[in-house]
Amino acid sequence: MRFISADWIFPLFKDPIKNGVVQISELGEIIEVFSSKDRLSFKQIEVYNGIICPGFINAHCHLELSHLHNLYNKGSDFIDFIKIVKKRDLFSKDQIYKSIRNAENQMIKNGIVAVGDICNTSDTIDQKKKANLQYRNLLEVFQVNNEKVEETVNKAKLLKSQFVSENLNVNIVPHSSYSVTPKLMSRIKDMLSEESSIFSIHMQETIYEKKLFKDKTGPLKDWLISIDADPTIWESFTSPLHSISQINSNNILLVHNTYKEKKCNSNYYYCTCPNSNLLLGSKLPNYNLFDIERLCVGTDSLASNDKLSVLDELLTIQSNSNFSLETLLKIASKNGAKALNFNKLGTFEKGMIPGINLLQNIKNFELTEESKVVKLL
Ligand SMILES: [Zn+2]
Repeated sequence: MRFISADWIFPLFKDPIKNGVVQISELGEIIEVFSSKDRLSFKQIEVYNGIICPGFINAHCHLELSHLHNLYNKGSDFIDFIKIVKKRDLFSKDQIYKSIRNAENQMIKNGIVAVGDICNTSDTIDQKKKANLQYRNLLEVFQVNNEKVEETVNKAKLLKSQFVSENLNVNIVPHSSYSVTPKLMSRIKDMLSEESSIFSIHMQETIYEKKLFKDKTGPLKDWLISIDADPTIWESFTSPLHSISQINSNNILLVHNTYKEKKCNSNYYYCTCPNSNLLLGSKLPNYNLFDIERLCVGTDSLASNDKLSVLDELLTIQSNSNFSLETLLKIASKNGAKALNFNKLGTFEKGMIPGINLLQNIKNFELTEESKVVKLL
């Protein structure tokens, strides 16, 4: 049994507690949150300077792209980025596996306990079998050619079976509104009912998406035509969101939302990946538009980020919003756990097994460049 105390405890299901104490079992389960140390024997308690909060959820990552770190030149075009990702297979499996291991270690050190991880391959299976972190494996498909939809679905099912045979959970999800045909989207919808229904999609990551669906023009359309894409992709819908209107799930996670203009819809969870947006030369979302109970945060992959650190993402969000520290920590833990259905993570409620982070160098309840996270559990 451990009793952990600090200047402040942020349980995230109730208000922060000054000098509170969290009682945790040997298995990491929350037994109790005390509002003072008075009734406890002082010797039992570990006391830290700083803030204690639940482990972080990285709601959007592509662990298998970790070997593409530093290949992208800052400020290039988004379509150049897609070309970099196409080079993913030019590396040896050893290089790929080593980068995956290092990236996972980095996440653990940075206080991340669970990941919403996009997969196009089986490359991460061996690492995930070790269960160092919890994962929602989101098996991503894209296909712009209708004749190849069945081939794509069959490949995805085969890959899914590789995850399932290792007892790893997996959901088949589309890459984005512009990279799957309506026919494939409808196949994904049918498969969703066969699975635990977590649905994720890249949404409004570039300004071109809106242009493609609304005006039926722009660089994304030129690119799609150059790869012989089926015109039903842009002809069938008037907005990127329109393309998923048929999807029925309580856990729909829209990732990026950089060019979102309207207030958010309470049917969806929203994920922001601010440092990836900035590295790809884009802007940040307008954070005033989000319901702060449904916004979560992701690092995206090391192909478009310097680090896999939720705390670093929070610092960027803080500088571009009026969110309080408590809201930032909900974005980092509670909301991601809800969005991805990690029901033992995200808060210090009794019975949860959320991991424990110590945040240091916080000034007046604000994160600073010097702020750091120490994983206590
Ligand atoms: Zn992504």
